Amino acid sequence: MKIAILGAAGRMGQNLLRCASKFDCCTIVAAIERSGHPVIGAKVKDVSGIRVETLPDCLCYTDDWPSKAETVIDFTFHTVVTENLANAVSNGQSYVLGTTGLTDQEKRSVVSAAEKIPIVWAPNMSLGVNLMLELVRRSASILGPDYDAEIVEMHHRLKKDAPSGTALGLAEALAEGRGVNLKDVACYGREGMPGERPRGEIGIHALRGGSVVGDHTVMFVADEERIEITHRANSREAFATGALRAALWLKDRKPGIYSMRHVLGFENA
Ligand code: NAD
Repeated sequence: MKIAILGAAGRMGQNLLRCASKFDCCTIVAAIERSGHPVIGAKVKDVSGIRVETLPDCLCYTDDWPSKAETVIDFTFHTVVTENLANAVSNGQSYVLGTTGLTDQEKRSVVSAAEKIPIVWAPNMSLGVNLMLELVRRSASILGPDYDAEIVEMHHRLKKDAPSGTALGLAEALAEGRGVNLKDVACYGREGMPGERPRGEIGIHALRGGSVVGDHTVMFVADEERIEITHRANSREAFATGALRAALWLKDRKPGIYSMRHVLGFENA
């Protein structure tokens, strides 16, 4: 499968270029960066020192749309996702959307693009986190609102959005497991005099510091016991591997929005 990476000089882009060697059946055909980025025109291996067999020696960073790619993997910035999707729709390309922090309007552009192309959209593409989502959904459904649920996430100091897309995904899974609407029960941080904790509230808290790749804990707290489900990512390769796996899974799929639950077989496509 011919794959293009959007945001190729970024932290995730570099990991994707490195991880591509693990997948014999995919070839990276384009490393795309925003216009004006200092790497444009440079060879990928000269900038990052990445030397893997699946990367063609001549692969350069470019800002041209990669029309020869079958699938595009997007780890960029939320404000450019709508335009990227429009380009993929014009070229009939499937899409892996890893970028987080989308506004409601940007999310609507994903939904409308998915009428024309297949899109795997996941705030966290690691296998471990997607297993955790499943465990949280099931635990919430079994334990119910008598167990107070709190979500704590921690990321590196450079992360721009908060709470993380993964924390929001965990909160959605929790609300789904309880059969409630997240908007009605979410509490983002506490300060001042928030009063007693209402039954059924879902607390969500974001910590930032150092170079932490991504830690997430979901706690279910009752008077007599506490259950904690934790995932810690040691390296961004966890996300990159999942994104490449999603790209391969997209081959010959019908248009629509898919999640890592589909890619991993928890849900039928
Ligand atoms: P980063 O800032 O290191 O990299 C983003 C790159 O995108 C930059 O190099 C930037 O120049 C480039 N870019 C911006 N506009 C572009 C455009 N129009 N075309 C091509 N490239 C463009 O950020 P990062 O840490 O790599 O994360 C990128 C995004 O992915 C963030 O939203 C982050 O939250 C998300 N993320 C998702 C997952 C997941 O599993 N879904 C995992 C990690 C990060």
